[in-house]
This record gives sequence, C-alpha cells and structure tokens, in this order.
Amino acid sequence: MKITAIKGINDILPDEVGKWQWVESVARRIFANFGFREIRIPILEKTELFARSIGESTDIVEKEMYTFPDRNRQLLTLRPEATASVVRAFVQHQLHLQPAMRKFYTIGPMFRHERPQKGRYRQFHQINVEAFIDDPMIDAEVIYLLLVFLQELNIPDIDLHINSMGCVDCRQPFRIALSEYLAGVSERLCQDCQRRRLTNPLRIFDCKVESCRQLMRDAPVLLDHLCDDCRSNFASVKGHLKSLGVIFTINPHMVRGLDYYTRTTFEALTPHLGAQNAVGGGGRYDGLMKILGGPDLSGTGFAIGMERLLLLLAGKAGGQQHPIRLFVASLGAEAQSRGFQLVQELRFRNLLVEMDYESRSLKAQLRRADKLGATHVIIMGENELAKGVALLREMEVGSQEEVPLDGIVEKLLQKFDLVM
Ligand code: ATP
Ligand code: MG
Repeated sequence: MKITAIKGINDILPDEVGKWQWVESVARRIFANFGFREIRIPILEKTELFARSIGESTDIVEKEMYTFPDRNRQLLTLRPEATASVVRAFVQHQLHLQPAMRKFYTIGPMFRHERPQKGRYRQFHQINVEAFIDDPMIDAEVIYLLLVFLQELNIPDIDLHINSMGCVDCRQPFRIALSEYLAGVSERLCQDCQRRRLTNPLRIFDCKVESCRQLMRDAPVLLDHLCDDCRSNFASVKGHLKSLGVIFTINPHMVRGLDYYTRTTFEALTPHLGAQNAVGGGGRYDGLMKILGGPDLSGTGFAIGMERLLLLLAGKAGGQQHPIRLFVASLGAEAQSRGFQLVQELRFRNLLVEMDYESRSLKAQLRRADKLGATHVIIMGENELAKGVALLREMEVGSQEEVPLDGIVEKLLQKFDLVM
C-alpha cells in the first residue's frame, strides 16, 4: 500500500524551494541590518513550557498541540510557536548577562492540529523575531521591521492593526466589566465560550464562531480600561510609529491567540487570503520571562507565517535553480567512466556540470543537455578517446571543436571563467 504524508503536513518540492530560500535570505539580510541574531531552538520541548506560557485555556494548548509521552513517560510537545522556546533558551543560558544578546530571530517549522485549508496547515513555518528590551521604542522598531520585511518582498495591501492588552493592573478591573457584559449574553455564546466566560473571558474575543464575534462587537474593550501607565505607554508606541511614517488602524477587539501578551499587540493583515487573513502578528510580553524562571525582562516580538507569505508571492520572483552550464555526453563504457571522473573533478572546481548515467544515445543525451539549459556539451566516444581528445560542442550555434584530454579541466575552467 502506498504511504502518503500526514494530512496538513506538506512536502516542499525542489521547484518551490527556491522561493523559500529567497524569502529566508531576505529575512536574514534585513534582520541583521536591524541587529537581530539567529538562534536555533529545538522542535521538541517539555509540554509544560507551552502550557505555562501560552496559557491553559487558549485554543493552542486546549486543542491544537501535538503532545505525547516519550519512553520515560515525560510529556513532550512539538512546538506550536517559537517565543516560549526562545525565552527558555535565553533564561537557560543566562544570556541576560551578555548585553549584546538582546535581539534574536529564528526560522523553522511549527505544529498545530488545526483543520487544514488554504493558508492553514498542521506543519507550517514561521519566521520569528524576539527582542528583550523594555521600551516603547522597541515595540515600534519591531513593527517597523515587520513592515520593512513585507515591503522588501513586495507583499501588497498590508493593513497593520494595533491594540494594547494592558497589564495585570488594568486587566483585573476590566475582567469584572467584561464578565458583567458576558453574564447578560451567556446563553447566546457557543459552548466553548460559555466555559471560557468563567475561566478566561478575554479569550472570547478570539473565538472564530460568527455569533460570538457579533456579540463581542458590543462588549467593553480593554483599550477603554487601560491604567495611566499603559495608556501613556501606548501613546508612546503610536508616537514612535508615526515618527517612522507607519500607517496603522487601532483595533480594540484584537486579542491574539496567546495569553502572555501585555500592552502592545499587532497584526499584519491581507485581503487576499480569505479567512486566513493574518500574515504575521505579535506583541509585547512583560511577565513571560519571569514565569519561566528567568529575570523580569520584558520581551516583544512577532511571527510571520511562511506559507501565507508564499501564497501572496505566487507567480512572483524567487530563486531559480542555477542552470547547468556544461553537459558531458559519453558513448561506451570506457568513455563513460572517463566522463564520470571529468564531471566530478569539474564540480569540485565549482563548475555546474551534469552527465548521463544511463548509457543513452548521443541524440538523447544532447536533448537532455538542452533541457537542462547547458550552453556547452563535451562529447566523448571510443574514436575520440583513441585520439586522446573530446569534442566541445557549443549548443546555440552547433559548432564543435576538438579539445585534447590532456589538460581538459584547465581549458574548461578557463572557458567558463573559473580560473583564478
Ligand atoms: P490565525 O488567527 O490565522 O489562526 P494565529 O493568531 O493563530 O493565526 P499566530 O500564533 O500569531 O497565528 O502565528 C503567527 C503567524 O503564523 C500567523 O499570522 C500566520 O501567518 C501563521 N500561522 C499560524 N497558524 C498557522 C497554520 N496553522 N498554518 C499556516 N500558518 C499559520
Ligand atoms: Mg490560530
């Protein structure tokens, strides 16, 4: 029986990989310009890391994590997001003792058990940025970086939404106001939200059920209940964004899917992907590092979904495979063996060269050379070998010249400008 990949977990075939590499290289270049350094974190972590940081009553932790016991019955989870791991690594390696270690990025696969559809998969990839600096300027910088990156990729029509989630001080009084409102409409909430109303009412803003969304349009919002500190902090963030020429919409209903956010949150939205309208999102998280046993350092960051980026890039530029320059066609066992050696040596010397391994006719080999885009072909048969030469054919004009086998590597490297 044929074994296929798991639903929602996709292969990325060679023809697409060029685009992935291109997007990643743009990310690496721009993030480096902004002072971010790459960190690579594990794909597998202890389950409690995510349960504690993302929040027990979030969709991710309640329904979407791939969790299983290992052979020692330790519960492990395939990471659903990167922030928790970056913070864990920062704490574990005491990076706060190194002042130059404050800004990080990481790129890689994430896993969430969601209903697969266009732009939503069970294994997907994120580009993630985190900065551990406590200032509204950093919030603005990170948002600006997100927009610069999307602009560099020519992603059209991005709409930036921002909000403030306040802090522990303003959330408590707000929770009371929200709970009062929710008590009045409780029988019209979906089953999940009836439960959330008592455990974590803020989560109801993130419910995807249309009737809940409608009810929440009239709900009180945190933005109207910010304490003085949070209000002035939000004003600073907006001020810095304006100073950078960033255009944004304030969206008081946006809460994001993770519990650890405080103060600034944001999302980059697109009108071109239907329901999967978030290209990236993030925000500030003030208490997370302390919760994970580290110093009380604030963080702010974002995650961009690679697959959604690539859907938006469809048909646009992106790293073609380098075309083969030379093809070695050989006829007969001896010539084939000589050709095989020649090919490996030229590759070792940085020439992109290909050959035929299946003893096909010369005509078939030339056709293949043409398909691969080779500009030149070396032809070797028994007659040529006996004379100590090979034929060098220029594909475009169809002209051929004899080249002595003695010194052929140097001659070819010279021809392709690969000699130092
Ligand atoms: P959504 O509201 O679309 O579920 P989210 O708020 O759960 O998104 P985040 O946790 O903020 O997403 O992750 C950041 C980005 O990662 C999203 O903006 C999106 O581009 C991408 N992303 C999230 N979940 C998926 C998924 N299942 N498949 C593909 N991309 C995803
Ligand atoms: Mg989600």
